[in-house]
Amino acid sequence: MVKRVCVYCASSPNLAETFLQSAYTLGKYFARAGVTTVYGCGGTGLMGSLADGVLDHGGDVVGIIPNFMVDREWAHQGVSNLIRVDSMHERKARMEKEADAFIILPGGCGTFEEAWEIITWKRLKLHVKPICIANLWNYYDPLVAQLDNAIADQFMRNEHRELFDVRESIEAVQDWVTQERT
Ligand code: AMP
Repeated sequence: MVKRVCVYCASSPNLAETFLQSAYTLGKYFARAGVTTVYGCGGTGLMGSLADGVLDHGGDVVGIIPNFMVDREWAHQGVSNLIRVDSMHERKARMEKEADAFIILPGGCGTFEEAWEIITWKRLKLHVKPICIANLWNYYDPLVAQLDNAIADQFMRNEHRELFDVRESIEAVQDWVTQERT
């Protein structure tokens, strides 16, 4: 039963409103559905919008952030359940531990790294939790194509295509969460 969902997403503030709105909508959905949101505790970009969506609708957020980011004042100011860690490695390990499922929203290299890691850990059977790539406006077509390439050239096995699901809109991502909760 999925109760806590970890979301990996962009910190960049320079994003189209459509991306920001999608993250906010997902946060609002989590609050209304009683799902706890686990994320990296950033205050900007999709990270900030996601947390705003949850907090504006009375939901629970767990923010996991390295001390050096708190020192740089990158932490979301409204998140009270804040877990401070010493390193990026510790943060990612803790995010995995705190959640029952993972959603990869659009992002930059930080999000890519988190996405590859959580998929790799599942491939290695370090966890068996569901993973969804939110391919909003086809943003992740190249990433999915690269994974398909890896399978086609036998760097990965066919069954590895089932390590993650892909959904094309934020509504479809919400349906995915609902399905994973039943
Ligand atoms: P990116 O997708 O490159 O924006 O990276 C998102 C990830 O990078 C987050 O999970 C954080 O680890 C980290 N990150 C980078 N910049 C910030 C920031 N200003 N505030 C919070 N987290 C950040």
